Amino acid sequence: MNLDWKNLPFGYQKTRYNVRCYYRDGKWGELEISSSETINIHMAATCLHYGQEAFEGLKAYRGKDGKVRLFRWKENAARMQNSSKGVLMAVVDDDLFYRTVVKAVELNKDFIPPYGEGASLYVRPMLIGTGAQVGVKPANEYLFMVFVSPVGPYFKEGFKPVDMMICRDADRAAPLGTGHIKVGGNYAASLASLKDAHDNGYASAIYLDAREKKYIDECGPANFFGIKGNTYVTPDSHSILPSVTNKSLIELAKDLGMNVERRPVPVEELKEFDEVGACGTAAVITPIKSIDDHTTGLKLHYCKDGNPGPISTKLYERLLAIQYGEEPDTHGWVDVFDF
Ligand SMILES: *Cc1c(COP(=O)(O)O)cnc(C)c1O
Repeated sequence: MNLDWKNLPFGYQKTRYNVRCYYRDGKWGELEISSSETINIHMAATCLHYGQEAFEGLKAYRGKDGKVRLFRWKENAARMQNSSKGVLMAVVDDDLFYRTVVKAVELNKDFIPPYGEGASLYVRPMLIGTGAQVGVKPANEYLFMVFVSPVGPYFKEGFKPVDMMICRDADRAAPLGTGHIKVGGNYAASLASLKDAHDNGYASAIYLDAREKKYIDECGPANFFGIKGNTYVTPDSHSILPSVTNKSLIELAKDLGMNVERRPVPVEELKEFDEVGACGTAAVITPIKSIDDHTTGLKLHYCKDGNPGPISTKLYERLLAIQYGEEPDTHGWVDVFDF
């Protein structure tokens, strides 16, 4: 495969195959391999009307030793199971999730970027209600499928600090809503405010808790963390999506001898952090260099020298080193394949 690996965007890139599995008559069928980029579904499918849709995002990496590493797929499987239960969809068990993901990666192994290009293969499992319903009810048929796309860094600048703004005129998720599961509806709710942030020159919007607008929730489609002295702080809230990256950074922070606090983080505390960042599979860590709050006039600056902070840098490098097989996988996070 001869792609311009160095200049890959974070976006969709056609590959050779995707893998599908249909749920009908109360059970999952056999895996089907497809080379079509489209799906054919009923116009009354519940995913199109009532948001019966969940997705996942994980990555496969071509390691230093030439082997392929899949990062923490079990966490993504468990999260998709939670999402399914949250919007009443058929559940994809670990075995089906694993087989489908591995097949999709293996069939497209030529699209896994070579080691050293700073790129990876993004894996997108998705689950949709395909059964027809006009009344508001869950479907009785589902499609689980996995497609992949080689991707470069989420932000074209790579590991560079970005500007963020606090969003006060919209909520991504309600306090007792679906913020804790990875469903498309949360993304629909965030599109307008994210566009507004982008249009104003910010990389993303920071959402606050919907009830009191007092605490940090999430940074667009990523979790928030702050470093204060020797402590890694990350918000705790029902409306936050539990990020696998955040969970991993917490473990790495502990490895570095840091304390970890998972608790509500008030907006006023932002000025006390030495470093702040957003984290997720797409960008791993996005260091934040400034936060603007147009309502209160608050304007905070981090990364005074223009570079990511030392602890964010250490965590970022350590996680990538595990993903690319440069350092020992002491937590048992990667599955290694010879294809
Ligand atoms: C997917 C997602 C994240 C990041 O989760 P990872 O497992 O680290 O990729 C964070 N917030 C939201 C809202 C998400 O949908």
